Amino acid sequence: MKRAMAVVGLVLLATVPSVLIIALVGWFVTDQVQQDLAQAAAGSTLESDRLIERSAAELRELLDLAGQDCTPEVVARLSDATMRSSRVGSIGLLSADSVVYCTNTGPTTLVTAVPTGRAVPAEGVYVGWIENSLAGGRSIVVHVRAGTRGGVVGRIDPEEFLERIEGNLVGPRGALLISIIDGPTLGRAAPHSEWYLTRYVARARSTQYPIEIEASTDEGYVWSRFLQYIPLLVVIGVGIAGLVLWVAVLMLRRRRPLDEDLALALNRRQFEVYYQPIVDIQAGRCVGAEALLRWRHPKRGLLRPDVFIPLAEQTGFIIPITRWLFDRVRADILLSFPEQEHIHVGINLVAEHLRDTHVVEDLKALFADGALNPKAITLEITERQIIDNFRETAIEVMERIHELGCSIAVDDFGTGHSGLAALQRFSVDYLKIDKVFVDTIGTDAVSRPILDSIIDLGHKLQLELIAEGVEQRHQVAYLRARGVRYAQGYYFSFPLTLASFARFYREYNGVVPATTVSA
Ligand code: C2E
Ligand code: CA
Ligand code: CA
Repeated sequence: MKRAMAVVGLVLLATVPSVLIIALVGWFVTDQVQQDLAQAAAGSTLESDRLIERSAAELRELLDLAGQDCTPEVVARLSDATMRSSRVGSIGLLSADSVVYCTNTGPTTLVTAVPTGRAVPAEGVYVGWIENSLAGGRSIVVHVRAGTRGGVVGRIDPEEFLERIEGNLVGPRGALLISIIDGPTLGRAAPHSEWYLTRYVARARSTQYPIEIEASTDEGYVWSRFLQYIPLLVVIGVGIAGLVLWVAVLMLRRRRPLDEDLALALNRRQFEVYYQPIVDIQAGRCVGAEALLRWRHPKRGLLRPDVFIPLAEQTGFIIPITRWLFDRVRADILLSFPEQEHIHVGINLVAEHLRDTHVVEDLKALFADGALNPKAITLEITERQIIDNFRETAIEVMERIHELGCSIAVDDFGTGHSGLAALQRFSVDYLKIDKVFVDTIGTDAVSRPILDSIIDLGHKLQLELIAEGVEQRHQVAYLRARGVRYAQGYYFSFPLTLASFARFYREYNGVVPATTVSA
């Protein structure tokens, strides 16, 4: 569950920033294109203003002709001025009532259109348009008026405008559209686009003349601008991927807390049972073993119980684990010691087992079919657990264990300072003398006399003694001389697998090498 969430988190970690950055670059590029279009439109209106102003300046020089009749001389001057001008295509004279009555080609009666709603000033420059009857399309007409005398007009073809503003096209398929405000479109500069592109558009209006210019470009151009950032995006993407990979490695390296693993260990069959032989040092026989748990952790290797038993106690897993151990020990005994020749296997309990009678039920189930002799099982309870649970339930549990036919050993005896009273109250069968006292044999440690008192106490209470952690020959000799009957420790054997223990048991009890037991 947590792993799945971690994976989802990592995927989000990898994709969200990338998507955000791509979106950000997308927004940035669109914004840039939009700005370029706005600039193109504004620049183009300035360009068109300049063209109109310069044309007006040329026309102003002919203002002395305003109001004059359309004589050949007048026509000749208009024609001459038209020839010299690089801006206006034709020049005419305007009557006071806005009719063009004379042009560079001769007398005429033309009415130019002006934007609706705009007052035509009596003096100065304003802009209108004229439909080109021959070429089609429309031309801008610049009016320079001189009050009641009328004025001079000049026609500028849209091409003039477009040529001058074409430099402002945005993108290879950019377009510029020039039109009269509140009037018609005059022309379009779209050298490479067949269609009119409205997706990305910006407009600008002249502040002086009723001219509006619209700059537009196509999506392809925006894409091409976006693609320019691909190398940068790749660098950022690789950076993010690296970061995510790094985080993932960190997360994978981080060990899962052991208690999470413990919850799964039983189902995953990660527990193993080892048997440490217990030897009768008076008779020179192996009489059984203590069952000791090992946890084969997939990552941490074989774990000793000191690491996980306290954890199993805290988390409550010790109950199902012990139940599993019961079944396992039963199966092992039936498999390797079918005749159950005086075999005794010690199984460790914890305080939790003394708080209610569940453990008795679990044990009862072991013997229900009669295959396993209850005498084969000894339950080990530490002295400290007995003291801490000095109450009715614990007494009841222990009584009922006895009723079943199992024995009880007090583990780690001597370390808990329990009184005689406690020992008598809880009827027990064995005292396991803790290793710390066995270790004092042959030394002058201050705790040295305690071992002898424990041995004496055991004899007085008629309890069998099992010395734990026996490692040396002289310890065996001492214990034997003192009448201690059983011993367990590396001197005899390390905890063994079932097969090894069965072999040990038979060899030890068959042909017992004299050197092994006699000191
Ligand atoms: P314990 O019940 O006192 O078990 C004896 C421990 O002393 C075992 O350690 C054993 O390997 C070790 N030992 C035996 N002989 C010698 C020796 O000569 N020298 C030394 N230095 N050590 C020796 P282990 O197997 O690591 O178990 C440690 C403790 O974990 C046990 O102490 C017991 O309290 C607990 N434990 C082990 N298995 C179980 C279990 O199945 N259930 C419960 N509840 N506790 C268990
Ligand atoms: Ca024990
Ligand atoms: Ca012990």
